[in-house]
Amino acid sequence: MNRFSIEQAPVVALPVAGSAASFPVRRVYCIGRNYAAHAIEMGHDPDREPPFFFQKNPDNLDPSGEFPYPPHSSDVHHEVELAVMLKSGGSNISVACSLAHVFGYAASLDMTRRDLQAEQKKLGRPWEIGKAFERSAPVGPVHPVSEVGHLSEGRIALTVNGIVRQDGNLNQMIWKVPEIIAFLSKYFSLSAGDVVLTGTPAGVAAVSRGDMLEIEIEGIEPVGVKVV
Ligand code: MN
Repeated sequence: MNRFSIEQAPVVALPVAGSAASFPVRRVYCIGRNYAAHAIEMGHDPDREPPFFFQKNPDNLDPSGEFPYPPHSSDVHHEVELAVMLKSGGSNISVACSLAHVFGYAASLDMTRRDLQAEQKKLGRPWEIGKAFERSAPVGPVHPVSEVGHLSEGRIALTVNGIVRQDGNLNQMIWKVPEIIAFLSKYFSLSAGDVVLTGTPAGVAAVSRGDMLEIEIEGIEPVGVKVV
């Protein structure tokens, strides 16, 4: 029997590599400007200023392998990112303890309506309209730490129609994964099911319908996403 007064939205569940069980998503946090070369290309000082975050919605994560070009934008950019999936959480987690909360990692894209984001930035307004739109975060299968270990260095790259557009290394993150988790946990209660997108290396650019995006992160399988 349904205990709710309206129909309950389905739990967003992501495939887990090598498992029949899936990963249920609770929240999605995204860090901005976390690779120096990308901060510079966006016109900012890459110094280690405090990290800042925005959120996407759980159902923005999309493992389908297709990215529908969204409405109200003519400048939609790819941002290739390592996604971190938590199996537990808490508040005021120390940097030393934070990796113990990680369930696994996935290849993802923080797709961005750059024109809308730029308008919001100029007005000092929140970014959601540019960042948290439908299916704005294509994501590959979750790879458990028990299978792949922790990913702290190695190539992170994006090719578009076979041409390399973004090419960095996970070790170039300004704020490392343990630091990101510790920082977030000061301001939010983290929990099992939380997902953190860890920022993008340089080379962000516009996509078009028909483009084939291929994410490569060393240590996990490549993920293909078609813009439709
Ligand atoms: Mn991003």
